[in-house]
Amino acid sequence: MTRAFFPASFDPIHYGHIDIALRAREIFSEVVVGVYARPQKNILFSVEERIAMVRRALESPGSGISVVAYEELTVHFAEKIGAKVVVRGLRVFSDFELEFRMALANKRLNSGIDVVCLIANEQHMHLSSSTIREIASLGGDVSSMVPHYVASALIAKYQELANDGKSRHDLISIRD
Ligand code: ADP
Repeated sequence: MTRAFFPASFDPIHYGHIDIALRAREIFSEVVVGVYARPQKNILFSVEERIAMVRRALESPGSGISVVAYEELTVHFAEKIGAKVVVRGLRVFSDFELEFRMALANKRLNSGIDVVCLIANEQHMHLSSSTIREIASLGGDVSSMVPHYVASALIAKYQELANDGKSRHDLISIRD
């Protein structure tokens, strides 16, 4: 039995992430999806909000997919939960460069854990959380990119921020 760990910020989760998690589950007997609690970038949704959306998208009894929040180094957490593999997705060349560097650093930290990258589904190649946030913040329709409850949460969040007098520019990061 091989347990795989799929870590990301999921701010918010979209169909590209969902596709990677489901395909990973076809390869590995168990997939633990990790919602990184403290990314070094501007985050729109709290960890509680992000985890609730990821659970709704991926967790169901007997699915072999579970969802947890984590705060430590990815390889430390993977080791703690007994995962031998870290799963990531690759969309474009710039993803490869980042993932390659992270995989080498992770190997140095823990040589017992390997990174497996799945190539993005053509249909979802263009999706990124930052693009989705930007479209939603400008009132665009993201219903083909995220589940309906994520689309509703985006609308509600930007409405709430507008009511609080926050500018959308405070919230958008150039990174995913
Ligand atoms: P983080 O910035 O915390 O790594 P992201 O949500 O941006 O989180 O991405 C997490 C992982 O999901 C990365 O490996 C990324 O390449 C992958 N990913 C993001 N968007 C897509 C997509 N549209 N298709 C496939 N994989 C994706």
